[in-house]
Amino acid sequence: MSTAPIRHPATTIQANALRPSARLPVIFLGHGSPMNAIEDNPFRSSWQALGAELAQRYEKPQLILCVSAHWLTSGWWLTAMSQPRTIHDFGGFPRALFDQRYAAPGAPDVAQHISNEFSPALGLDQGWGLDHGAWSVLKPMFPEADIPVVQLSMDYGQPAQAHYAMGRQLSALRDRGVLIVGSGNVVHNLGAMSRSMTSLQAFDWSQQFDEMVERQIQQGDLAALVQFQQLGAVAAKAHPTWEHYLPLLVAAGAADGEEPVRMFNASFQGGSISMRSAIWGG
Ligand code: ZN
Repeated sequence: MSTAPIRHPATTIQANALRPSARLPVIFLGHGSPMNAIEDNPFRSSWQALGAELAQRYEKPQLILCVSAHWLTSGWWLTAMSQPRTIHDFGGFPRALFDQRYAAPGAPDVAQHISNEFSPALGLDQGWGLDHGAWSVLKPMFPEADIPVVQLSMDYGQPAQAHYAMGRQLSALRDRGVLIVGSGNVVHNLGAMSRSMTSLQAFDWSQQFDEMVERQIQQGDLAALVQFQQLGAVAAKAHPTWEHYLPLLVAAGAADGEEPVRMFNASFQGGSISMRSAIWGG
């Protein structure tokens, strides 16, 4: 006779489901250099202030769902481990940056629920963790690391529109205690970076692309962000590859052009990295 323990799946589901909540904002953060995670600079200060503001104005998120420029996959994947590792996916930085850990728990059961609700279903990943696109901004925002974090990958084989559509699907999670954080950069061309440029200087194409994004966000014309390639050569300079732009599309998809939006960190690193960030519904 079997003596296997009796499991109560219904109870488990109840305990691990996301509860309805007041609608949480959705955030896009320009992360820029990994050093922003530990340097005492205006970007890191802004993330710290944002975390404090959220704590004051909203109930504590039940989950943070982060889409980072640094996790590109075939298909869409959600991290589903209970203790995601901190990934140091960069080279040539000081030891202090490699010593950083962000010990936020994962949320395997919730990831499973979310995965089943989506179409196409999201794969459940056990191998990733939190890459620096995620932890470099989340650690200053939520230093206590007590809110579970899952990362959603980006299916890099999909067109820009699919990333926006993924954001549309994610939008409903904002009513269930999920804080959606996109982490990339509005302009991102590492090869063109110039050390001599201050945070208020930018290349013409960099500024032009940044201003287009600013205008579309300000006007609530979020779907237009998908058409960024219409800027032709300027877009190609601003994003030789797309991975840092796509998290903006996911975040914008989860937002609504009608809701209030606030932009911040409207400055540059090396003239070719725009740090422009936005919070919708805040
Ligand atoms: Zn990056």
